[in-house]
Amino acid sequence: MTAACPHADPQAPRRMCSHLLPVDQAEDHAFRFTGHGAEYVLVCRSCADAPAPELVPSCDACRRECEGYVISCFGLRGTAEVKSRASAVRFVHRDIPVPALGEAEPLALAPLLAGTGSAWLALLSSGALLRIDLHDLRVAPVARVDVPALDAGTNARIDTSPDGRFASVVAARGRRGVVVDLESGMATMTLDRGEYHVRDCEFSVAFVRDGGRTVIVHATAWNRLDVFDPATGELLTTRQPTSYRNGEPRPAHYLDYFHCALTVSPDGRWLIDDGWVWHPQGSLSAFDFRRWLHENPWESEDGPSLRDLRRCDYFCDGPKCFIDDRTLAVWGFGSDDESMLDAAVLFDVETGERLRWFAGPPRGRFFFDRHLVVAAEGKGTSVWDVSTGERLHGDPAFTPVAHHPAAQTFLSVLPGGVLRESRMIGDA
Ligand SMILES: [Zn+2]
Ligand SMILES: [Zn+2]
Repeated sequence: MTAACPHADPQAPRRMCSHLLPVDQAEDHAFRFTGHGAEYVLVCRSCADAPAPELVPSCDACRRECEGYVISCFGLRGTAEVKSRASAVRFVHRDIPVPALGEAEPLALAPLLAGTGSAWLALLSSGALLRIDLHDLRVAPVARVDVPALDAGTNARIDTSPDGRFASVVAARGRRGVVVDLESGMATMTLDRGEYHVRDCEFSVAFVRDGGRTVIVHATAWNRLDVFDPATGELLTTRQPTSYRNGEPRPAHYLDYFHCALTVSPDGRWLIDDGWVWHPQGSLSAFDFRRWLHENPWESEDGPSLRDLRRCDYFCDGPKCFIDDRTLAVWGFGSDDESMLDAAVLFDVETGERLRWFAGPPRGRFFFDRHLVVAAEGKGTSVWDVSTGERLHGDPAFTPVAHHPAAQTFLSVLPGGVLRESRMIGDA
């Protein structure tokens, strides 16, 4: 006699072994792929490698509850099917010498998003920020930052505002950053997130369009995000307290969470935080940015829109990108850093639900340009149809470092001060 989940229709798919029911955190589980697309079943230790595990019907709630106990997951078994289809999708390239770059590679590059031209911002080791317009091949210095003071050498990252007016330069795994007004060339803000575990957390910073104005969100402490006016440095999310000392009572809304890389939805509504909690466990979360800024200053701590999209042991700050205003694509299927399958997992950030996933996309930079484009060092670039999960194209000789969503171009840095601009063409 095998115990099926009591909520499931007897005709429901057989997706769990009977030994995992009723669901209990103390029972270890593994994902066992069937080899048919993204299909898998959940199995206990004794069924993990058994030729025919004793599978029973289970409801969605029991399956999700079992998967949610990520510390009970002991790995993956079998392989998921990687699908592909022949298509005319391919990349065309244009190599453009930019003598102003000199021989050394830029420390960081980012797209300048105002307009649809292929304009970029490059940080040189001298601290010069160059605006490089690849359409008419104009190069102009726009500002200068103190790279050693930021401790931002090989660790530098640039983020730009949607209106093209501001840029931040930060030490991606460091403490400090600066905001620059690209029209005046002046620094308007300094960014400081403290020292606590900054080497384990990507610097949290992002520009967001809020109606007609631009704001910047960044970490002001390991467990606190704030929004500012980047032109003046005015704080827009006043609230206290968010920390306490030994012997003091723990404040209401206290957040025990390390903020890491931020990602903003294309419409500026949703903010994604790829942070972690002790032990350490990655905790990918989403919340309504506009609600935070206009209605509830505690939204980023414990607001009603806050969603826990994924928990993953020892893994945070992974590749990700939005594929529309509400759907986030994230690298990796699994719940432990040591057993992750190359995959793209799609979440609805408003409901927090995992929508679907497909195997194949490697761990690399995720971009969205009609399709999911993944650039992985040593593996080149692959293109994936996000609705079917099929691989449409692969180019092992091409690994761009950045994408310009308005110009729909990709950028690579070649030796000798040459930039390669690439476009995707061809029908899927
Ligand atoms: Zn079993
Ligand atoms: Zn059930």
